[in-house]
Amino acid sequence: MKGLDSQVEGQTNSRPYLLDLSVGDLKTLIEGLGERPYRANQVLAWVYRRFVSSFSEMTDLPVAFRTRLEETLVINRLDLVATQEEEGGWSKKFLWGEDRKPLVESVLLRYKYGLTGCVSTQVGCPVGCVFCASRVLGFQRNLSRGEIIEEFLGMCRDQGERLGHLVFMGTGEPFLNYDEVLAAIDMLCRKDTYGISRRKITVSTVGIPEAIENFAKDGGGAKLALSLHASKDETRDKLIPLNRAYPIGRVMEALRHYAEVTGQRVTVEYMLLKGINDGREDALRLSGLLAGLDCLVNLIPWNEVPGLEFEPPGKSRVAEFKAILERNRIKVTVRRKLGGNIEAACGQLRRRTVLSDSPDR
Ligand code: SF4
Repeated sequence: MKGLDSQVEGQTNSRPYLLDLSVGDLKTLIEGLGERPYRANQVLAWVYRRFVSSFSEMTDLPVAFRTRLEETLVINRLDLVATQEEEGGWSKKFLWGEDRKPLVESVLLRYKYGLTGCVSTQVGCPVGCVFCASRVLGFQRNLSRGEIIEEFLGMCRDQGERLGHLVFMGTGEPFLNYDEVLAAIDMLCRKDTYGISRRKITVSTVGIPEAIENFAKDGGGAKLALSLHASKDETRDKLIPLNRAYPIGRVMEALRHYAEVTGQRVTVEYMLLKGINDGREDALRLSGLLAGLDCLVNLIPWNEVPGLEFEPPGKSRVAEFKAILERNRIKVTVRRKLGGNIEAACGQLRRRTVLSDSPDR
């Protein structure tokens, strides 16, 4: 666990970042300021339930104590650099920065059942999936637990209300930043912080078997989604380079382990790319891979990304693919194209902003 003086590599803030602190650390810090530890709960309630971004707004705390907190801690580290809303309000994208320099993005999705916050876990992504905008800018660093939490709370602040669901599907592979992702989940699930249920949280991975197996015990009931996107290694090796280290067979073994240990249904994300992974044989092979596994397949027709040459499958191809899975008794949905109009495939808003800021463009 990080101590009070911990800072993410590359950060220069001299004051500790409140959202990186455990509850115990915050209590210790507050006691060090001469106040009773219960004050920590008041501070946590303001930050995690009322989404304030300054100590001056914490009106039930003594003024002198608020001033001491202000001198000692920072609540926020991320600046809101840009937002982009889809026509109709189904989704809204947030670009967060550091000293106004674009860093990470989050997406708010409005479903019939409520609001979902989709957060990033890394600045850029080291995995390098060929269909992903995030790889273009390269990997810079992992986000800290506090920065991940701040993305989520920042969207709550923007909306002026709680978000009911949290998904780790933004930029980055969450399991390559395992400890910070787990710490962010643990913090947000506490009753004295945000108090979200683990069942309302989904972590999406391209498939790191050991991490999936660990998550079965560490996740405490949080859900898992696997971005599979291919039914054979030959295709998946080309789409997701990490597949060469962790082939489909090994990933599926870990997924079955997760389902068995947790008793949870897993989601399998499968992006349909015309002529690459959308054939009849692919659907049949996928049915075989998933036979007997309690899962829901989410088919995602390709969402165009400028500069990438994939094509979306036709509607009849999507329907046929879905029908083959259903005939093999696999539950399947086709994802509504939320965010398609606002460049909501991961990494696109950040890429556009960074590239348009670049002196070379
Ligand atoms: S799809 Fe996900 S894992 Fe793959 S490069 Fe993009 S952000 Fe990384």
